[in-house]
Amino acid sequence: MDRFDYVIAGGGLVGLACAIEFSQMGLRGLLFDQGAEPKAPPAIGHAEIVNHQLLNAGSPRVSAINPASIQFLDRLGWRSNYSDAGLSPFSEMLVWDGEGGGDLGFPAEGLIIENDRLRWALHQVVKALVQAGRLVCRWQTGIQDVEDAADGVSLRLTSGEAISAELMVAADGARSKTRDLLGIRTLSWQYNQTAIAGVIATGRPHGQVARQCFTPDGPLAFLPLPEPDQNVIVWSSTKNDERLNLSPSALCAEIEKYAEGALGHVRAVGPLAHFPLQQQQAHRYVGKASVLVGDAAHSIHPLAGQGLNLGFADVKALAAALQKTRLGSKRGLTAALQVYQGQRRPLNLRMMATTELLKRVFDPPSPALRLARNIGLRWLDSQSRLKQALTLAASGHM
Ligand SMILES: Cc1cc2nc3c(=O)[nH]c(=O)nc-3n(C[C@H](O)[C@H](O)[C@H](O)COP(=O)(O)OP(=O)(O)OC[C@H]3O[C@@H](n4cnc5c(N)ncnc54)[C@H](O)[C@@H]3O)c2cc1C
Repeated sequence: MDRFDYVIAGGGLVGLACAIEFSQMGLRGLLFDQGAEPKAPPAIGHAEIVNHQLLNAGSPRVSAINPASIQFLDRLGWRSNYSDAGLSPFSEMLVWDGEGGGDLGFPAEGLIIENDRLRWALHQVVKALVQAGRLVCRWQTGIQDVEDAADGVSLRLTSGEAISAELMVAADGARSKTRDLLGIRTLSWQYNQTAIAGVIATGRPHGQVARQCFTPDGPLAFLPLPEPDQNVIVWSSTKNDERLNLSPSALCAEIEKYAEGALGHVRAVGPLAHFPLQQQQAHRYVGKASVLVGDAAHSIHPLAGQGLNLGFADVKALAAALQKTRLGSKRGLTAALQVYQGQRRPLNLRMMATTELLKRVFDPPSPALRLARNIGLRWLDSQSRLKQALTLAASGHM
């Protein structure tokens, strides 16, 4: 049986980042993912509009990443594999109530990235590590079973291969099978909401501003794309099943209503992606020689746009905790995993609680709550200290 320093279940954005970070620490590992090896994303194309339909636009699966995540990714070497033409910086966030006059604006720096392009960019770094013999990758391979002991993990993959390692990292997403096999339970609740995401073309430029409107049936975010007249919308709502059946022109009209003139006429909408939503926290993040990161440890409502940022922060904290120990030393590993859990779990819980609070204040809207939140948004907008705190939180430095 081949023995590695570490094994990572899941080659999503967080798992790939973790493999690169660990390789940079001089560790040798194996990463496996039940999905196919990432493919090159299509070239950044020229969008066309036909009957309110936006064709050949970029992918609607984008994420707002904060300066802390950008710094982390820079260290991993993603830039040389991700064209600047696919990056969209933003410098401000505007939030408003779709049912009243309350609004709030604050400076917030970050980048909108396409998830598939970032995954491809990280995968290029991973491929170089594989060629250098520092990492082994198995695609279309899941986990069959795992034994977690103080002196390391032994696992069997769906391919039949048996692996052992000093440490196992579960980065296999919100429905982590690895977490279940480790017997780690979660606290989770479903929303009746789903999220739809799609690219829209507008009459007015977005001006590199990220926007969010709290509509009566859920938050609608507008994330600016590199093209000045294109945004990705992410609408988390109880009514998306009906929305998916709307004609492009009817959907454009509905989006335009809630954009409240900020983006002018909504001219077209591209194909929609559709996601179920839930909040979930693992009761614990660590086992004997195993640890959860990213959505396997926590998944939160996208209204705060923070899930991926939290996943990258997990990897950074885990690597920093492990730097101080030597893999193979049982006591050292247990202590390092406890440090990691002690740092990350309270911060992730705090972000989850904030997101939940926002969600409850804005949904469902009773008339009294609606008035209170409008007054609250106006009051918040007048408090420079609080706005500074919001800016810091959005940057990932708090
Ligand atoms: C609509 C929407 C908008 C969002 N917007 C933002 C945003 O603006 N900013 C932000 O920071 N976050 C955002 N998020 C959250 C962000 O997308 C997630 O937090 C992030 O993608 C989680 O990454 P991950 O690598 O942990 O998990 P995943 O992306 O789920 O990756 C898990 C990987 O594990 C693999 N896998 C699964 N099961 C197994 C198994 N049994 N064995 C082996 N491999 C397995 C999968 O194939 C996959 O490759 C958003 C989420 C949604 C739904």
